[in-house]
Amino acid sequence: MKPFSYERATDAASAARTLAERPEARIIAGGTNLLDLMKLEIETPGHLVDIQDIGLDRIEPTDEGGLRIGALVSNTELASDDRVRRDYGVLARAIVAGASGQLRNKATTAGNLLQRTRCPYFYDTNMPCNKRRPGSGCAAIGGYSRQLAVVGSSEHCIATYPGDMAIALRVLDAQVETVRADGSARSIPFGDFHRLPGDEPQRDNVLERGEIITAVTLPRPVGGTHIYHKVRDRASYAFALVSVAAVIQPDGTGAVAFGGVAHKPWRVEAAEAALPQGARAVTAQVFADARPTDENRFKIPLAERALAAVIDQARG
Ligand SMILES: Cc1cc2nc3c(=O)[nH]c(=O)nc-3n(C[C@H](O)[C@H](O)[C@H](O)COP(=O)(O)OP(=O)(O)OC[C@H]3O[C@@H](n4cnc5c(N)ncnc54)[C@H](O)[C@@H]3O)c2cc1C
Ligand code: SF4
Repeated sequence: MKPFSYERATDAASAARTLAERPEARIIAGGTNLLDLMKLEIETPGHLVDIQDIGLDRIEPTDEGGLRIGALVSNTELASDDRVRRDYGVLARAIVAGASGQLRNKATTAGNLLQRTRCPYFYDTNMPCNKRRPGSGCAAIGGYSRQLAVVGSSEHCIATYPGDMAIALRVLDAQVETVRADGSARSIPFGDFHRLPGDEPQRDNVLERGEIITAVTLPRPVGGTHIYHKVRDRASYAFALVSVAAVIQPDGTGAVAFGGVAHKPWRVEAAEAALPQGARAVTAQVFADARPTDENRFKIPLAERALAAVIDQARG
């Protein structure tokens, strides 16, 4: 690991200012992804800004009847919050489907959203990777691609976004709140937060330099049956091959997002009108533009079957 300096920020705007002024600086939250990347020298920050003391660790009701989740709320605390379990069950279920209890105790709301891809070539510094080193090429295209994207990919990167919590936040229409170095704040609709790779796969999301996440907000509860179904190679402690986050209403309508299939949580709102007709009708639209590899083509029927199981479970 390369040497680095360390400070504890006193407020969000000053943390954002440090990031803007010092390109070699990074925020550290739970550290469960960043420190792994630093040990492999994939990330080599010269300075770490620790944000644990700046009051971003609360879950509060919003004036609109939703919830505001501070960026530093741990995954364990969020998944066990009574309001989340009662009104946003898909979120609690997605969180406990991820990582291990020990990791969830350290992992934070913002850090979880910002975790990097698990593409094996991203972690292998001997291999070309446009996400790790822009312009170096993509070893996964034509390489081992079983876990990688089937939709939304580009000729520069076919990585998937690996997290579980974000798939639930996408289906819940969350917003990401941020602050910039000049103190200004913005609220980003969740569907716009993560990016497709395009010709800049090194950028996972739309955060600007010097912009930090302060909170994630949830709208008023919408009721319905909340389900998160994660299909993976092992029963626990593995990233999703395919996952489905769904909120299904008693009349069969609802909202659905898929994980493990794209560079971002994948939701096609227009396809949701077909939910009462069943999984095949929905996934035909969701994956209409899919460009799978020979190794990961299986993810499309797997996603259809995972959604069919979710619809069955919602019917009771
Ligand atoms: C063995 C293992 C298994 C795992 N399995 C799963 C799994 O199945 N599902 C899953 O979803 N996840 C899984 N994870 C990933 C884990 O959930 C993430 O590592 C964790 O959520 C990251 O949160 P953190 O607070 O530790 O982030 P950190 O490592 O502290 O930060 C991650 C990134 O976010 C940035 N950052 C953090 N907070 C802010 C902020 N407020 N504003 C701006 N930037 C910020 C940091 O600079 C860094 O770039 C696994 C991890 C491990 C090690
Ligand atoms: S798929 Fe993306 S992350 Fe993986 S090697 Fe190619 S450029 Fe890198």
